[in-house]
Amino acid sequence: MRVGTDANCLFCKIIAGEVPGDVVHRDDRLVAFRDISPKAPLHVLIAPRDHQPNAAASATADPTIVGELVASAAVIAEREGYGAYNLLFNTGAEAGQTIFHTHLHLLAGGITALPV
Ligand code: 5GP
Repeated sequence: MRVGTDANCLFCKIIAGEVPGDVVHRDDRLVAFRDISPKAPLHVLIAPRDHQPNAAASATADPTIVGELVASAAVIAEREGYGAYNLLFNTGAEAGQTIFHTHLHLLAGGITALPV
């Protein structure tokens, strides 16, 4: 599929390597990087390369991508030494979403605050 990008999107820039990010995984479908303001000992954001504003829009545009984000979270958590973790999509500004490029929060090791 054609991968869309938004020149004004921070996460598109991190994915493209134009803005620094502590990347823990990248492949042709998604990029995972540590949250700049972690709310748990492990706090990674997993974002599709394709720019969509939220998880529902990603699921509509590319029906397998949300499952791929979740599967990637399991691999990253295990590699970081965590067998248990929390996953969260904030959707909409009123729900705390601040970056309007789909991203799955992966949190493990004890959440100190909700990432909203
Ligand atoms: P949201 O509130 O949209 O669900 O999550 C956005 C997340 O992006 C927040 O947890 C916030 O700390 C993180 N964030 C904001 N700016 C940056 C940045 O420049 N780099 C990284 N790695 N994370 C960021």
